[in-house]
Amino acid sequence: MTSERVFVFVDEEELFSVMKDADCLYCRIPVTASKQHLKKRHLRFAIYYKDAGIGRFSIPCYCSDGGHGRSHWHCPMCSKILHRTQNYKIHITNHGVEMTDKSSVSDGNKLRFVSKFSPLPAELQPTTVLLESLQTHSEDKTPGSKAACQKCGILFTTTSNLRRHERLQHGQDQQPILCVDAKNAIYVTPKYLHGPRVPIHIRKSFTLQILLCELEECWDFMKAQAQSGNPGKECRHLVRTNHAQHYVPPPPLSVRSLEEMRDKHLLSASEKHECQEMNSRACVQGVDCVYPVFWGEHDLPERCVFFSVYTDLEDKWCQFGRTRVSFDSKSGSWKCLCKHKRSRCVHKCLCMWWLFQERPELLQDALDVHPERALNDDLC
Ligand SMILES: [Zn+2]
Ligand SMILES: [Zn+2]
Ligand SMILES: [Zn+2]
Ligand SMILES: [Zn+2]
Ligand SMILES: [Zn+2]
Ligand SMILES: [Zn+2]
Repeated sequence: MTSERVFVFVDEEELFSVMKDADCLYCRIPVTASKQHLKKRHLRFAIYYKDAGIGRFSIPCYCSDGGHGRSHWHCPMCSKILHRTQNYKIHITNHGVEMTDKSSVSDGNKLRFVSKFSPLPAELQPTTVLLESLQTHSEDKTPGSKAACQKCGILFTTTSNLRRHERLQHGQDQQPILCVDAKNAIYVTPKYLHGPRVPIHIRKSFTLQILLCELEECWDFMKAQAQSGNPGKECRHLVRTNHAQHYVPPPPLSVRSLEEMRDKHLLSASEKHECQEMNSRACVQGVDCVYPVFWGEHDLPERCVFFSVYTDLEDKWCQFGRTRVSFDSKSGSWKCLCKHKRSRCVHKCLCMWWLFQERPELLQDALDVHPERALNDDLC
């Protein structure tokens, strides 16, 4: 039960809808997770921060993991438990988030998340929490029968309610995953459960005997699992390969569109050369130089476009020979995991090439943007 709870939220509605008057998952002593309870015991002490540009908050927990109901914090990124608020702040800052105040959550996020986390209609609410009756959960659909969540034991009257709960509370099973390189068994999947679907790379192949996730916290998790007699336990990203879509080749880059970009002075001569070089090296390896990550039905309105880009080397920032490039089509800003971060690099140029060729309208909007607007409000 512990490892599957959500400890970070993007807005208050999300927190309220997670339990909806069932027992509070964050208290040791059974208590109804009413709005009033959540406000008084949890929200009042919430810690606000920004992660990948999104305002989020953590709530203090009083579950038995903390020992005798002492208040504590579960790190949503590495599942470590910290007792002192100050230490927790330092700890998550070390994960790369930025401390903020409440306002970043209340204004910024509402718009984007409100539809996803609108409150559950009455008939979709979990009815009771009876852990001891878990055994009785059968698949029959007679009225009044209960379906139990395998992860936390909450009971539901119908399977569709259960699915909905699984999606809202445990999330990961619904997260999309795409194969970007079938040859080397490389996939992309969203790093977080909420917010922009920033992809990370993972590798999994039984024939190659590979089980790898880019995130250090997942390494730690799998190492700890192996040490406690659970070898081969996969992190939440790797398990998603069970429902991965087959590799679908993206439209290939054409030299003609690169020439055109050069003619329009969108690239320097050396950038054009570098792009061509990198693309041919990827071709020689039999992989796609630029793999645009469109999550299909899971896609948010297309403001953020992500790419998995071939690097021709392996390093901390591109462990599997691919980097991630993000493009915010509204602010026009680009990011890459390589050392250039925000200045121009060959990876960004390659993605520009792909966009210019396949989705010029996205690039055009960005070219119209005034540079001063591009500075602060990028999302991805
Ligand atoms: Zn509580
Ligand atoms: Zn706890
Ligand atoms: Zn942590
Ligand atoms: Zn559950
Ligand atoms: Zn992982
Ligand atoms: Zn780069």
